[in-house]
Amino acid sequence: MTKKQRALEVIRRLKEEYPDAGCTLDYDQAWKLLVSVRLAAQCTDARVNIVVEDLYAKYPDVKSLAEAEPEEIEAIVKPCGLGKSKARDISACMRILHEQYNDNIPETFEELLKLPGVGRKSANLIMGDVFGKPAIVTDTHCIRLCNRIGLVDNIKEPKKVEMALWKIIPPEEGSDLCHRLVYHGRDVCTARTAPHCDKCCLSDVCKKNI
Ligand code: SF4
Repeated sequence: MTKKQRALEVIRRLKEEYPDAGCTLDYDQAWKLLVSVRLAAQCTDARVNIVVEDLYAKYPDVKSLAEAEPEEIEAIVKPCGLGKSKARDISACMRILHEQYNDNIPETFEELLKLPGVGRKSANLIMGDVFGKPAIVTDTHCIRLCNRIGLVDNIKEPKKVEMALWKIIPPEEGSDLCHRLVYHGRDVCTARTAPHCDKCCLSDVCKKNI
């Protein structure tokens, strides 16, 4: 089985297993996803979803958040960890959106990458979820599962995993596949315990078991 064939089979099976898998960060406007994805670094999405409720109660739009001092933002986002740097990035990012993008978010991958605190993972998430464009989000679940399954061979660096996946995954499938890998990584192919291969829908195509 080639990597491409394996990838297509994994996509097909995970679609059946998690038909409705989507982003686990709550947001109703694009700029809020930008904030949440910065807060999600080294923090759970569940905690981020709680913390942003307080943040948006006080700062309901880009303008008000852009006008807030980083220290005021930090006081609220502290429970997500790395409060100082996250608040600094969110503040700088919202100021750019307010001053240069009329309170909207930029629509190209390159422009998104230039925003403070936005790396390839975040920019891909926005491209896929907000704009419905091809995207591959190489978070910790994606990297662990792709290595175990055999879609990549012992590659841990996020950008290298992303580049390897672009070669074997139909572009339009990337975003949804990555969401489904998160679900599968949390429920079955877990990080902190041995993976539950006995109840995994991929067990007969997974390299770990072949
Ligand atoms: S078979 Fe095991 S290692 Fe492979 S994806 Fe499933 S749980 Fe993970």
